[in-house]
Amino acid sequence: MGRIAQTDGLTDVQADILSAVRTFVDKEILPHATELEHKDEYPHEIIEQMKEMGLFGITIPEQYGGLGESLLTYALVVEEVARGWMSISGVINTHFILAYLLIQHGTEQQKQRLLPRMATGEIRGAFSMSEPGCGSDVSAITTRADRDGDGYVLNGQKMWLTNGARAGIVATLVKTDEGASSVYRNMTTFLLEKEPGFGTTGGITIPGKLEKMGYKGVETTEMVLDNHRVPATSVLGGPEAAGRGFYQMMDGVEVGRVNVAARACGIMIRAFELAIAYAQQRRTFGHQIADHQAIAFKLAEMATKVEAGHLMMVSAARKKDRGERNDVEAGMAKYLASEYCHEVTTDAFRIHGGYGYSKEYEIERLFREAPFMLIGEGTSEVQKRIISRALLKEYKLA
Ligand SMILES: Cc1cc2nc3c(=O)[nH]c(=O)nc-3n(C[C@H](O)[C@H](O)[C@H](O)COP(=O)(O)OP(=O)(O)OC[C@H]3O[C@@H](n4cnc5c(N)ncnc54)[C@H](O)[C@@H]3O)c2cc1C
Repeated sequence: MGRIAQTDGLTDVQADILSAVRTFVDKEILPHATELEHKDEYPHEIIEQMKEMGLFGITIPEQYGGLGESLLTYALVVEEVARGWMSISGVINTHFILAYLLIQHGTEQQKQRLLPRMATGEIRGAFSMSEPGCGSDVSAITTRADRDGDGYVLNGQKMWLTNGARAGIVATLVKTDEGASSVYRNMTTFLLEKEPGFGTTGGITIPGKLEKMGYKGVETTEMVLDNHRVPATSVLGGPEAAGRGFYQMMDGVEVGRVNVAARACGIMIRAFELAIAYAQQRRTFGHQIADHQAIAFKLAEMATKVEAGHLMMVSAARKKDRGERNDVEAGMAKYLASEYCHEVTTDAFRIHGGYGYSKEYEIERLFREAPFMLIGEGTSEVQKRIISRALLKEYKLA
């Protein structure tokens, strides 16, 4: 793998997990990724093997049947998996965020009922905040839940659900009327349960999958809620947690941002690997192109960007693992890694010359995957809002 993107201070268990995942990626993901991606085909066999490896329960505590590993372990696994094919990391990501939300905010009854089956991958998780009319501005959501006897009735339309069809549980943020003066305290997260697949279950409809430029193989869907009735126990954290949904989701998104940074690192590690190999194979003007300083310097810049992204991602994960809030660090890591990922894949594409434009070369796929890193779990502009607000508060002039 070379010297870049190494991580100091890992435990033996972490090193063993990563070594097993790296071997799995090299043998089972990389040889099939581009073909599956071009066909937009769901990677059934790969996912089944990942279930057997315990990767669906990697952060779920052992008492609920998982491996009980840290955010750092998860992020490093994601980096490895995304090096093979970013879409595969997408299959486990929303699942991981839902597990995190349950572990941090769920009732004991919700944990016992859902986490063991999530640890095996038997039931899969998605999370849904975005709507057709809003993504960055979460406060503008219009989907709502109205009290109805001892439960709620939900109505509205959600957008961009990664794993929306295959998920059996969707953590869904909606407006509720808690009588609070702040819009942020009038939002509630529901654990919506449904049959996996497309179509209608109760009042939940998952229409067909959305066609995307990249991030293929894994489905992204809409979700329509039409008088969908749920008991109050479906509120994440139980009935008394109504009105806390925004804060719960933001907690989930913080770990999600470390995860997107890790995915961006995985894509750019692979782009760098492809570029440095190609630069030594392709010859122009009597030399391998790596001998031209313009190309060699590009390689130096790419490796430096990979290293910086990796170090910031690891640092943000470690902060959360220490039990500290990492909103700024996760925002910085996500912002930097996703922007660098975009630049590194573009440089790798350019080093490939015309062949970079050919579907026969892997870089063509990476080039289409990188832009989603700039958008998912909050755009770069949203990260800069979070970072700058926190800094202005901390560095406020007396
Ligand atoms: C493939 C895919 C999968 C997704 N999966 C999920 C999922 O599983 N669950 C989920 O809930 N969502 C998901 N999303 C949605 C994603 O989180 C949103 O697309 C993202 O948050 C951006 O929201 P938006 O698309 O509405 O853009 P907008 O919010 O409309 O933003 C448009 C542009 O305006 C900029 N902008 C907005 N506000 C400001 C501001 N205040 N200052 C400066 N610039 C600003 C943005 O940065 C962006 O450039 C997914 C999206 C995609 C494409």
